[in-house]
Amino acid sequence: MVTINANAKINLTLDILGKRTDGYHEVSMVMQSINLFDTLTFTKLDAEEGIILHGDVKGVAKPEDNLIYKAAKLFLDTYKINSGVEINLIKRIPVAAGLAGGSTDAAAVFRGLNELFEMNLGINALCKMAEQLGSDISFCLMGGTMLATGRGEILQEISAMPKTNIVLVKPKVDVSTAWVYKNYHKVQDSVIHPDNKAMRKSLIKKDLQGICKALGNVLEYVTIPEYPEIAKIKQKLSDYGAMAAMMSGSGPTVFAIVEDSQKAKDIVSKIQLDFDADVFAVETAEKNF
Ligand code: ATP
Repeated sequence: MVTINANAKINLTLDILGKRTDGYHEVSMVMQSINLFDTLTFTKLDAEEGIILHGDVKGVAKPEDNLIYKAAKLFLDTYKINSGVEINLIKRIPVAAGLAGGSTDAAAVFRGLNELFEMNLGINALCKMAEQLGSDISFCLMGGTMLATGRGEILQEISAMPKTNIVLVKPKVDVSTAWVYKNYHKVQDSVIHPDNKAMRKSLIKKDLQGICKALGNVLEYVTIPEYPEIAKIKQKLSDYGAMAAMMSGSGPTVFAIVEDSQKAKDIVSKIQLDFDADVFAVETAEKNF
């Protein structure tokens, strides 16, 4: 049996540089893994038993629609492995939250099956499969602090963010990533683009104030007008003493950078009373490879 913890991510920056001929947006984003994680366990089965998945994901009715199932099928097919597999999922990362919960589960399947079947595949082979399933899966395989470009699948390792306390607030609304990107053209002329160079410089210097200053996400301009609660959450987090607060990915989760773990605990207990939301105190996580 193999067990893998699948970390969520936040975006320290998210910029859109343009639309590509294949319909995807060209992005440039600094991504950071965090230690909020789903846990997946993998056990070999006989080939006739196929892929059996235990554990629910809200909104995913059929197991075949689950990214976990799709990743397992892709792995077994690609490497012509004549075996079944049982996967148990403990889901902790909120779904459709901007935290890459689905992508990180898929990445965990690639890592888990690589170990279970003793394939010894390197990160490049795993990323090749990841690209076929979704843009954020390659980052979730790597973890740590990365600059992601292309449609998110081209990764460059950059200076790691210093270990930092983060508070996550996920209001009880689900946001479709596809809807947010589809509506970006309506706001694109009025957005302030994040400065990835400034972010990278601050990361090199381990300058948390500088990192806070360089946070930026152009998708806030699409999601916040539709879900104004996100702006209220950001404001409250600042009022309660967070160093900075921003929406992650396509939202609606807001993350706050906080000085220390005691402050994080204080903020969690206060903000839980203000909003109908899932609230977590977490830390930045290190790379997987
Ligand atoms: P991202 O930040 O990568 O854009 P997200 O955090 O906004 O993603 P996810 O939680 O990854 O959103 O889920 C996106 C959709 O993927 C969900 O609405 C759900 O229907 C589908 N999905 C399929 N499998 C999974 C899974 N294992 N976990 C979560 N969502 C899944």
